Amino acid sequence: MIPDGMRFLTTLAVLAVVGEAPVALGSAPAQAGDFAACITDLKHTARKAGVSSAITTQALDITRPDANVLRLSTVQPEFKIPIWDYLGFLVDEQRVADGRAMIDTHDRTLRAAERRFGVDRYVIAAVWGVETDYGREAGKSFLPHALATLACRGSGRSKFWRGELVAALKLADRGDVPLNELYGSWAGAFGQTQFIPSTYQRLAVDFDGDGRRDLVNSVADALGSTANYLKRAGWRSGQPWMIEVKVAPHYHGPQGRNDKAPLSTWAARGVTRADGALLSGGGQAGLLLPAGPSGPGFLVFRNFDAIYAYNHAESYALAISHLADRLAGYPPLRTPWPTDDPGLSRAERLHLQQLLLANGYDIGEADGKIGPVTRAAIAEAERSLGMPPTGRAGQKIYHALGGKSGGR
Ligand code: CA
Repeated sequence: MIPDGMRFLTTLAVLAVVGEAPVALGSAPAQAGDFAACITDLKHTARKAGVSSAITTQALDITRPDANVLRLSTVQPEFKIPIWDYLGFLVDEQRVADGRAMIDTHDRTLRAAERRFGVDRYVIAAVWGVETDYGREAGKSFLPHALATLACRGSGRSKFWRGELVAALKLADRGDVPLNELYGSWAGAFGQTQFIPSTYQRLAVDFDGDGRRDLVNSVADALGSTANYLKRAGWRSGQPWMIEVKVAPHYHGPQGRNDKAPLSTWAARGVTRADGALLSGGGQAGLLLPAGPSGPGFLVFRNFDAIYAYNHAESYALAISHLADRLAGYPPLRTPWPTDDPGLSRAERLHLQQLLLANGYDIGEADGKIGPVTRAAIAEAERSLGMPPTGRAGQKIYHALGGKSGGR
């Protein structure tokens, strides 16, 4: 979950698991003395807000801004990711298989959260899977330092970051999460389902009953809190979130998440289920055609908007919705994306990097994460093979270098 106004960074945050360090555009220099004065001021603010002096001192006993946070906060997205790569990465077979295993393991907790908050358990699990790969990638920035850096050296929204910092310190102070476990994204989202501290303060619940709201160490607390978040965002129990549909090839009627109509209206506009079946059922939905009328179409309901509230990007809500469907046992999308160069699975990404290394491209260690260094090598390989240099990790370059679908 990333605060409003940082929407484009959301993709980077989600794809931080894909990317090497992005290229920074640099940050405004500031005087060391200014920074120290700002930290002193932050300490006063925290104390005035009721945070103990012990926590305040421990948390803010820093002398330098967090350079990594400054670099990430000034990055510009230099590479626009096609929707099929974005979804292909976030909803690959591995995440589906891992998610089904996690749902088995945490079946009782997920069912309890579904009962108490009315939110479908597959959606709760999908948020967990996309946000942190089921708890495996929760972020490496020490929150007090990251938030203090943004408050004192960031390029704006200083008041917002100060508020998040104080909220984080309060969580440590009241014993929800130990101070030394406050690690998360550079922008302050943390825990198994990536709440920012102010949201945590407002909406986290103690779902395992130990008296603490610990979204870092307690899967139950994280899943219960996510369900609570979605419920507060307007989730309607027992209603759908999204269905895949088809439109006529030259469809030019209404579109958009907010342009909702009953399914009978969509049927009258020629929209069918992706398998060709007639639309039926209650509820109002809007039509999304993220790759135009020839690609997969989606009717999205009020519950899709609740997912969208978690992280303001339609591509993100599509990923959660589709992963939830896959976890519930539904098949992959029926309509192929309109591209002759689909993206790669995680195994194929790793293998592509191994092939680049074997072909003499120095990309460091193959780790399956496609960042600027790998993309530059891909572009160079494409050029040397007489292909247009896209720098994108797709099937074409993968096959050209000797890869076979399936990653081996
Ligand atoms: Ca707890």
